Amino acid sequence: ASHDRVINFGAGPSALPLPVLEQSQAGLVNFENTGIGIAEISHRSSEFTTFIAKVEVNIRSQLDVPPTHAILFTQGGGSAQFAAVVMNMLARYKLLHPEKGGAETVLDYVVTGSWSKKACEEARRLTVGGHAQVRVVVDTRQHSRDGQSFDNIPPHAAFAFSPDPALVYYCENETVDGVEFAHEPGSATAFPYGLLNPNGEAKLLPLVADYSSSFMCRRIPHLADHAVIYAGAQKNIGPAGVTVLIVRQDCLVDVDAAAQLGAIPVPTMLSWKTLSDSKSLYNTPSVLSVYVTGLVVERMREQGGLPYYEELNRKKALSVYATINEGQEKGVFRRKVKNGSESWMNVVFEVLGEGAEKRFLDGAKERGMTGLEGHRSVGGIRISLYNAITEEQAGKLVTYMREFIIEETK
Ligand code: PLP
Repeated sequence: ASHDRVINFGAGPSALPLPVLEQSQAGLVNFENTGIGIAEISHRSSEFTTFIAKVEVNIRSQLDVPPTHAILFTQGGGSAQFAAVVMNMLARYKLLHPEKGGAETVLDYVVTGSWSKKACEEARRLTVGGHAQVRVVVDTRQHSRDGQSFDNIPPHAAFAFSPDPALVYYCENETVDGVEFAHEPGSATAFPYGLLNPNGEAKLLPLVADYSSSFMCRRIPHLADHAVIYAGAQKNIGPAGVTVLIVRQDCLVDVDAAAQLGAIPVPTMLSWKTLSDSKSLYNTPSVLSVYVTGLVVERMREQGGLPYYEELNRKKALSVYATINEGQEKGVFRRKVKNGSESWMNVVFEVLGEGAEKRFLDGAKERGMTGLEGHRSVGGIRISLYNAITEEQAGKLVTYMREFIIEETK
């Protein structure tokens, strides 16, 4: 029963809104009065093709995605896109500059945490034969307090992009490390969009963003200036099994024509143009995951869309960070991320003292709250505050954190 549910602060897959889960239960048995369940129905049926088209419109209108960009649905998660971005963007570059060799083809990576580091490693794997040079524009560990942690967004002066890269890659929110670019225009820790134009030309460098853990939690700054934005659904907007892509039309390229010129051949399943030409139905999509995602974004629209979620997520993050700061003053908690670089979605900190972290986690569990362990690679505590976490649920955690601070300082 729903009253047995715990509050799930896990990083992904993560909590989904209860009303959507209840609606999905019904759809699993009978989808849109077809008499067939959503996991059983043909992805070519008019009911499903109509449904997926509506999901696209819903995301487009809420994020205000201009007609210059396609919205596509695929599988393979963020991890498949680590490869797809390299392959599709190298194909595009080859078609634009057939004369340029591998040494003259540069991929710029901004490494701010574990996920952008992983994406960069995938780019190295795929170009090991010399198809391109992978260049780390900035590795933020060099700007960290201890020289080895991803704890900051560095000053804009640290970002020296190449003059004509095939892509500029960044991860907007680092799920493991709890570091995120600021969204306030002019902020010192915002992404340096202004530097995307090193030659003073009208054309911006091709910007690729991983929004997996911050997609639709608020508006996307400079959305139209991106070549590609992608996100796995399983944090903010649905179950695992759907990846949303926002791709500018000029990045939907004929990968086979590029391969003829010497670019890396691209598996059909990773070609964005194939996906776009087939309206995201080249092969069988995860119909069930698309369905639940569709219900989530429809509910978001009904609640007021991104302005509503931006406000909700701001409030949740502010109250949790304020409580961590209180705990830090009392010597109970320690923040891990520098001021101005804190993620709204994944809040990381340490609990100080012998056995204290376990006490914290056990106490949370007793009160019906789980998923608070930090990623296995970094330890500590991580509170994920995705869209489905309500203000009341975040408030319950804050109340517990305050009690914990008092207990520990008795
Ligand atoms: N990028 C980010 C920011 C993530 O948080 C994750 C997963 O947690 C990934 C990429 C990898 O995504 P997936 O597990 O969907 O392949």
